[in-house]
Formats: sequence, structure tokens, C-alpha cells
Amino acid sequence: MGWRAADQDRRGRGLTELVVRGGTVVTAQGSRPADIAVDGGRISAIEPSLEGPAASADRVIDATGMLVLPGVVDVHTHTRVATDAEPDRFFQDSVAAAYGGTTSFLSFNNPGTGSSPAAERSLRTGLAEWRAATDGDSAIDYGLSLAVSGHADDPLAELPATIDGGVATSKAFMVFDFRLPDETLFDAMRVMADRGGMLQVHCEDPVLLDHAVAAALQRGDTLPRHHAASRPPYVEAVATARALAFARATESPVHVVHLSSAAALDEVRRARAAGVRVSAETCPHYLVLTEERYDEPDPVQCACYVISPPLRATTDRDALWEGLADGSLDLVATDHVPDRVGVEKAEAGSGVSFDRISNGAPGIETLLTVVYSEGVARGRITLERMVDLLSTTPAARFGLAQKGALEVGRDADIVVFDPSARRTMAAASLHHTSDYTPYEGLEVSGAVRDVLVRGTDVIRDGAFVGRRGFGQFVERVSIV
Ligand SMILES: [Zn+2]
Repeated sequence: MGWRAADQDRRGRGLTELVVRGGTVVTAQGSRPADIAVDGGRISAIEPSLEGPAASADRVIDATGMLVLPGVVDVHTHTRVATDAEPDRFFQDSVAAAYGGTTSFLSFNNPGTGSSPAAERSLRTGLAEWRAATDGDSAIDYGLSLAVSGHADDPLAELPATIDGGVATSKAFMVFDFRLPDETLFDAMRVMADRGGMLQVHCEDPVLLDHAVAAALQRGDTLPRHHAASRPPYVEAVATARALAFARATESPVHVVHLSSAAALDEVRRARAAGVRVSAETCPHYLVLTEERYDEPDPVQCACYVISPPLRATTDRDALWEGLADGSLDLVATDHVPDRVGVEKAEAGSGVSFDRISNGAPGIETLLTVVYSEGVARGRITLERMVDLLSTTPAARFGLAQKGALEVGRDADIVVFDPSARRTMAAASLHHTSDYTPYEGLEVSGAVRDVLVRGTDVIRDGAFVGRRGFGQFVERVSIV
């Protein structure tokens, strides 16, 4: 009989395909020793012991001494699509994500990610183009959030169709040359909410920012180390307040991306208290690194930390951890940008001023380890809170209904994590398409051992065993 018939026969006889045995199963609500059964790519049982099914299962994964976590859902990445010159960039970053315990990621198609000028003018063109460019290319499940560019011809008219096309969230930028004018941003929130979607907003104030950059350049302060001084926390906070006021007036859900400062976090708290349906994310780099990185004398090395918003003070870093612990921040995502010291960042060495250096840093592979090591192992957040921040809330908030939790009926996206491992972060041992990591030399606890996506091995004993094109596009037709 064919494999499908054999599969049905096995299920007809009540035989289980896979059992993950002996680990500590962690959910946002609690942790307990339990076994997990997987059938047809989904979790079919979670019980204190599945010894009986395990005895006749096709395969058993021994998770003794391990944490069993839901796969991480990274809702903020700027992966590059494949090009003729670099055909493996999207695939390779999906592999890197898997190495790090991520089983689903959402990408943006903003300028610089490989999208065409036509995609910037039309959201529907952007969606179709990106789907075609990434089809059959990812090793894990993935989705898209469109960048709603200020250069788009009629974004408000197109947004409903993009939500119907499986893209329930899109992002507007308040800064950069493709920023969305305030009036359009205001209307986009309402249009998306009416269709069950949600706008994500990059909150920095363009007037304040442009003024500070121009003043710095006038003084001759062109090196990367002047990046942070040109974007102080109040530039972020005032824009955050404005975006949240728009959400309040339009009664729309809104998501604040890459929140970096205590001042902006206060605005989120205030808006939430006023009834605004706001969620906010921060990123690992704001939780680990601080503005001292801009003291780096070599301009190219310094440019590796040119990220917007910039790295902040230690007091901001501590406030973000408190926000994650007390629920004011909802999730952590990477803002992964696979820039390279040898390519994009190298421009800082040839005199390109800080405001023109490509923004961003890689992080798609290091999310879980950094948050576990710096958060859970250091006692800043609980293990259960980490699972909520990295998997359960991002999946729920971004409409990935089958993802984000170890529950019967959900996709079997499972990470077997060794909490006792110790290692030193190094670019040389990572797999992403950047050539550096901002965490070089960081001593970390914990390591990903196995990763399953819909019950299929993608990482086994720390090595990639997945397949290009196995990852499926996740249709997200509404947020919860
Ligand atoms: Zn971003």
C-alpha cells in the first residue's frame, strides 16, 4: 500500500507516529513533566506518561533532562529574498532561524529586502511578488507583513485585499524616505481594523529626527558613533504617543515594533490604561546591549550597532526587562537585518555618514538563546513568561492560530532545549547570512537540541536535517 494508505492504517489501529518522552513541557501557564504524542503533524496528546503509545510509535525522542518548548514565532524580520547573485539568502536565514529554535517567522518586504519599485507603489503587487520570490524556499513556516510605503499609489484601497490574501498585519514607518504621512497612517489603522487586521508602527518622530541629524552633520559629526545622539528617547516617545492616540481615536488595534526606551514604554502603559488595544515588542539587542557600544573607535565595527531606534542606556535596558516581566511589553522579536560587516556596514569605513549607513543587525538565530540566557537563567523572567513572550502571544496577536503553544490540536512545532548547556556566542558558529553577530563573545546558557516543524525534524542533535521548501506560507486572514 502507498504511504498515505499505510498512514491511515496506522491511525486506524491507533498507533502513534512520534512521542517526545520524559521532558518538562512548558506552556505560558505552567511547566510539568509530560510526554507529547504527534500524529499527522499535529499534537495528538499531552499526558504525564505515554509509555503505551511510545512502545508502538514509529519514533521516540528522548527528552529526559530537557525543556520541551513551543517553537518560537519571530514576528519581525527583514530577510532578503533570493536573487540571481545570492540565490540562497532567504533559505539560509530560514535555516538559521531553525537552528535557533524558531519554527515560524514573519518577514517584511520594505525597500532593501529585494522588492521592486513596483512593489513599493502597490501593496498587491508587493504581495504577489514576494510570494513568488519565496515560494518553495523556506525550511520552516513563514509569513509576510507588508511595508506600507509612503510611495504607494493608493494603499488604503489595497489594504483590505492584502488581509484577504493572508497578510493580516502590515507595517508603517513614521521615519525614513518611505515614511507614511500621518493622515494616511491614521486612516490605515481604521481600514485594517475594519477588516480584522492590525497596523504595526515604527515610532520615531521625523521632524525631531531630521533636525537632530542635520545639526549633527553641520557640526561635522558624521561618524557612526553619533547615531544614538541623533535619536534620543524622546524622539521615540513622542511618536509612540502620537501613534497610540491615532489608535485610540480610530478604536483600532495597533502594534508598536522594536520599542527601545523607558520613555516609550511609559506611553504604552498610559495608552493601555486608557483602553487602547495596544501591544508592544522589544528586541534582544535592547535587552542585552547598551549605548556604550557606540564608543567603539573603529567606524565599521561601530556601524554594526547602527540600529533604529539605537541602543539605549542601562536604565532603559532594565526598564524593558521590567516591562517584559510585568506584562507591559507583550513579546520579543528580532528585527533581524542580515547586513554584513564586509558589505553594507563597510560603507562606514569609506566616509559614508551615520545617517546613510544601512540600519539593522542580525538576530534571527539568537532570539531564544539570548532571552533564555539573559532573562530566565538570570532570574529576570520566568520560563513560562518566556514561552508567552516568544511563542504564545506573538502567534495569537499576529493571527497564527495553529502556532505558539503546546496544546492538543495545534501544529507540532516543538523545540527540545538543553538548559544546562554553556557556550560562547560567535559569528563563526552561526548560520545566518550576515557575517557578524552583535553578541560576539557573550557567554550564554542553554542550547537548542531538536526542532520539529509540524512534527517533522528540522534540527536533530543540533544539526540541520530539514529541507528547502518544507516551510509553508501561513495565511493570516485576521488577528484574534
Ligand atoms: Zn524592523
